[in-house]
Amino acid sequence: MGGSTISGGTPGVLKHAAPGPPLAGLRARLGVPENVPLATLPVSAAGAALFVTAVYLFASTGPSSSAIVGSLALLGAALLAEAFPVPIEGVAAGRTSLANIFIVGTAVIYGWTEAAIIGALTMGLVELAHRRPVSRITFNTGLYTLAAGAAGAAAAAIEGTSLAALLLATAIASAAFYLVDITLLSGVIAETTRRPFFRVYARSTYSTAAPFAIMTSLAAILVVLWDRSPYIAVALAGPLVAIALYERRVFSILERLRELDRLKNEFIAIVSHELRTPVASVYGATMTLQQRELDEKRRDSLLSVIFTESARLARLVEQVVWASRFDSGHTRLHLEPCEPFGLAEEVIKAARLHLPPTLSIELSASAPPPPVLADPERVRQVLVNLLDNAVKFSPEGGRIQVAIERADGDVRFAVIDEGIGIPPREQARIFEKFHRLDPNLTRGVGGTGLGLYICQELVHQMNGRIWVDSRENEGSTFVFELPRA
Ligand code: ADP
Repeated sequence: MGGSTISGGTPGVLKHAAPGPPLAGLRARLGVPENVPLATLPVSAAGAALFVTAVYLFASTGPSSSAIVGSLALLGAALLAEAFPVPIEGVAAGRTSLANIFIVGTAVIYGWTEAAIIGALTMGLVELAHRRPVSRITFNTGLYTLAAGAAGAAAAAIEGTSLAALLLATAIASAAFYLVDITLLSGVIAETTRRPFFRVYARSTYSTAAPFAIMTSLAAILVVLWDRSPYIAVALAGPLVAIALYERRVFSILERLRELDRLKNEFIAIVSHELRTPVASVYGATMTLQQRELDEKRRDSLLSVIFTESARLARLVEQVVWASRFDSGHTRLHLEPCEPFGLAEEVIKAARLHLPPTLSIELSASAPPPPVLADPERVRQVLVNLLDNAVKFSPEGGRIQVAIERADGDVRFAVIDEGIGIPPREQARIFEKFHRLDPNLTRGVGGTGLGLYICQELVHQMNGRIWVDSRENEGSTFVFELPRA
């Protein structure tokens, strides 16, 4: 039992449909839209017919009030479990719904009519709440109805209420649910992906076998407890909720680790790429200087290449060193009163020496800013980084401003450019480690994605805060505030 349906919620659930041409003639004759797999139609129709029959039989047999209350309780539990599926490591199709435990339990405790009704309502209501397309709702609901009906029919084959009979009934009910579910679903997946049915079937079975076994044993516990007293069965809620919460937590941690691993691999690729270019330039320039008689102009230009490229290398190495210092917690800043205007002036003076000729940098302060309590070297480092970025992303003729002003008890530094800007959804993420925008968006400008992360860490360690205001194609304002001395 893997809780398989068309959805993102359970293993083997159908998400997208792109049926192949061999059935195009039949599709046209039946007037079925392109995005609806033909194999879903009989499942939807048979499921609907079984649901109507089950409701009719349930109503006409006049169920006892205890059966109605019990079924409602199981429906409530199934709905909750379906609405909050659990991600299970190793199961390919998204998250696993534990609703099957209650549907199979219903099949054994009350019979196929109740199970089919609860199966249909569980899936139908949750899918409706998610506003899925109609064809997906009808297929998934049909699938659950048929699987639940099969579970009830299988359980009915076992007579008696001994412990062994209950366990056997649950095992075969659970197996029937699983078989119907996986078989019908594999048919639809085989059609949409145009892969052989048995290959799809084998893969679905393999990836959902473990959750099936776990849910079978949970269903058996539910049935046995229910047999003693439905009230005692409520005790199952505690461990189930705990399993669900624990699985969700473990899964999200694993996802985060995978993301970090991916970023690290990407980072290694970026750093090797970023190292290769300046090393090649420095090597080439030095070789030329050594081997040839050159006029002064050519010599100067090669020396300038060596200077810029080795500065780039030094910056890269420095960034990696800082990132690893933050990782190991080995950063020690020396906070002391320092003069913000003087610091900014020095940084701007140095930046102007290598500024592309069409760009300009200006420094302004509304009133003489008070001293800040900070590490002057680190304030310089942050300003250099923000100015470097402003230069990198400015258009020709762009104006860059550095403004310093008082802000409540703090002093605010702003680096303002007229560059390409940053889309709103990326504005918080660019401060994350290794995060860079799509290289095409940033005009293929290089970088490790560490600069702003380092700025943010340094500003935080100086008890300040940093953020960005930006409009795409208009420019960005990077702001950081530091406390007054
Ligand atoms: P790097 O060290 O690679 O420059 P940063 O952490 O400094 O990385 O910046 C991360 C990303 O933020 C950059 O790749 C760029 O896309 C974006 N970015 C930073 N500063 C600016 C800016 N002034 N204008 C536009 N985009 C920027």
